[in-house]
Amino acid sequence: MISTLITFLISNAQAYEHYATWESTPQVITCGKNATKKEEVDKSLNYWRERGYKFSEVLEKTSCPEPKPGLIIVMTQDFPNRQGLTRTTCYTYKGDPKEYVDYAVVKVNNSQVLYPGENIESLAHEVGHALGIGHVNDRTDIMYPSAIK
Ligand SMILES: [Zn+2]
Repeated sequence: MISTLITFLISNAQAYEHYATWESTPQVITCGKNATKKEEVDKSLNYWRERGYKFSEVLEKTSCPEPKPGLIIVMTQDFPNRQGLTRTTCYTYKGDPKEYVDYAVVKVNNSQVLYPGENIESLAHEVGHALGIGHVNDRTDIMYPSAIK
């Protein structure tokens, strides 16, 4: 009982600040040319699952669907100098100051891999944005902003 409470307090203390949250469990789709493998996406999602975030089973598709509510769409793109880019579309309710994520499009860098596991870390970082989380100042945190130098 006590250890459960302590674990809860610690994980709660480390909880991320959100600019928006999901009202439903997002469905993650990895798609397109050079799509990130479902297994790789799952590894990235595990970072968040360990922190209590929930996702529907990851789907792998050859062509990317139109963005629609409830989806996190993961695609790859060649970026010259960044690891990824995420765009979230949010909505609000009248009289409620909170923002909710409607859907998110995550683009991960396909052109430069600097070290093993970099893509998984980059994807975990971008998924963090898709969950409505901004950057943090802690250099050791996955949400620390880092760019390819
Ligand atoms: Zn970022």
